Amino acid sequence: MKISDIFSNSDRAVLSFEVFPPKKNSPIESVYSKLEEICALKPDFISVTYGAGGTGGHSRTCEIASKIKNHFNVESVAHLTCVNSSKDDIDITLEDFKSNNVENILALRGDIVEGIEPKKDFVYASDLCEYIKSYGGFDIGGACYPEVHLEAKDEVEDILNLRKKVDAGAQHLISQLFFDNSVFYRFVERAKIAGVNVPIEAGIMPVTNKSQIERMVSMCGASLPPKFVKVMQKYESKPEALRDAGIAYAVEQIVDLLANGVDGIHLYTMNNPFVARKISEAVVSLL
Ligand code: FAD
Repeated sequence: MKISDIFSNSDRAVLSFEVFPPKKNSPIESVYSKLEEICALKPDFISVTYGAGGTGGHSRTCEIASKIKNHFNVESVAHLTCVNSSKDDIDITLEDFKSNNVENILALRGDIVEGIEPKKDFVYASDLCEYIKSYGGFDIGGACYPEVHLEAKDEVEDILNLRKKVDAGAQHLISQLFFDNSVFYRFVERAKIAGVNVPIEAGIMPVTNKSQIERMVSMCGASLPPKFVKVMQKYESKPEALRDAGIAYAVEQIVDLLANGVDGIHLYTMNNPFVARKISEAVVSLL
């Protein structure tokens, strides 16, 4: 099923999860038992990330997206980055998705990695959206940034670029993680003013260990509200308490987002079935 149909047929907020393929040197089967547990929670769909830098190739993303859909019977979305791909590379990937019954793509530019010269066929995610749209047969999603993409000059430029991505074919959006809901509400308002009229899912990352917080902040620049910092500081040396506090914080964010009419929640599960289960059990009746 196309993700756009899930949004248009649903009379409640959509719940989706994100998982990532195992590292190149681990067998792909190493994630299957975790996937099985995560799929058993029956989210509306699960998206599968694409190797950072676009260097890992698409095959693991495709294999896992196919497994989720064709074996565990949960709709899947394959992430696809374009900055390090030629048109021919993208054609091969799209054919592979098609032959594996993967019909939903999160179209991304990908990060520009130092030392890797970007290819020229696709400069922005909107170029990829346009190309996939003309290729046909796929539902297209895109990324968005409540705290503004790190390379954008300002929020006005970023939101106008987001509008271009939607005009180019993105039919729904998934947000970067954030820890302060008011930032997300202001972003949704800007998007609406700019004429971005597609469903926007809120990306929620349950922080369950200390190194994860540091990595996330340096990678995506998410600001940390004082309330969040206090909770993390209090429990940083108690792993189990930190995990539970991270889950509780995420649940509180989700309850507030649902009460404010969010289109959907996209949970960055970090391939952790325990955390995904605790959160979905806490919010499923509220969707
Ligand atoms: P774009 O939408 O192209 O935006 C990139 C920058 O260019 C922005 O600053 C934007 O304002 C600007 N811009 C866009 N269009 C134009 C235009 N027409 N003219 C001028 N400027 C423009 N990375 C991975 O490697 N693998 C993944 O699986 C992955 N999954 C992700 C999932 C989500 C939900 C999110 C939020 C991010 C994900 N990323 C992933 C990270 C993403 O690849 C990076 O954030 C990347 O730097 C930007 O990708 P984009 O698709 O948002 O780019």
